[in-house]
Amino acid sequence: MKTTRMPTLFFGHGSPMNAITQNAFADFLNEKGRQLIKPKAILAISAHWESLGTQILKSAHPKTIHDFGGFPSKLFEVQYQAPGDIELADKIAKLLSSHHAKVTDQWGLDHGTWSVLVHLYPQANIPVLQLSLDRNLKLRDHFNLAKDLKSLRDEGVLILGSGNITHNLRAIKWNENAKPFDWAIEFDQMIKTAILKKDYQILFNENPSDGALWDQALPTLEHYIPLLYVLGASDENDQLSFPYEEIQMGSLSMRSVEANPRPASSRKPS
Ligand code: ZN
Repeated sequence: MKTTRMPTLFFGHGSPMNAITQNAFADFLNEKGRQLIKPKAILAISAHWESLGTQILKSAHPKTIHDFGGFPSKLFEVQYQAPGDIELADKIAKLLSSHHAKVTDQWGLDHGTWSVLVHLYPQANIPVLQLSLDRNLKLRDHFNLAKDLKSLRDEGVLILGSGNITHNLRAIKWNENAKPFDWAIEFDQMIKTAILKKDYQILFNENPSDGALWDQALPTLEHYIPLLYVLGASDENDQLSFPYEEIQMGSLSMRSVEANPRPASSRKPS
């Protein structure tokens, strides 16, 4: 039986507190999890796993990693006990062999992954794998690597990026509903437009005139890079949409990006 091609999805994750807060973003994830065709597995690309060389989590029972400090104990008590898929991990390593990707059991599910999944799939009954961000790669290289993940979508694998399109922690206002900074709005809109126009010079930060805005919106790039995996694994048959838009804490874009082969009108109603 032919498996329906899965969408690819990017989520902003913002503060880890989103994992234990039932806000508009959590409501959106709850709803999205109900709407999506249930995947056979999830391949998460999180801002919070950087490594030298690309790595794939190969673990039958991935541990929940609490990779942050200074938050309430309730957040450290969260366990997302989804199974892994060791056969799929080997298969992904093979798919990415030209990129010298390696499997490892020296990771688990970091909060970039579980803070989204606790709301998207609260039952934690879908196998989850993670793919790391190779620190040696340029933005364009991440996008190109992701092209080799495309075939997984036909096997029921949901490619899920988790980061933030703007992520400036120095500028954060510790109030979820703080007024967004002008530069956060400008950068977020610039990326939205570039996605719709497939303007890769902008998406790959190769346009020198945008330099100052990039520095402000993304002092470091790891929260932006997962978006490039979601776009790299999409193709011209996908419809691109933005199912969630918000800027939290003044400086964190929570914009979600979806590449879906089916027009929105034909999707399963909630
Ligand atoms: Zn983060």
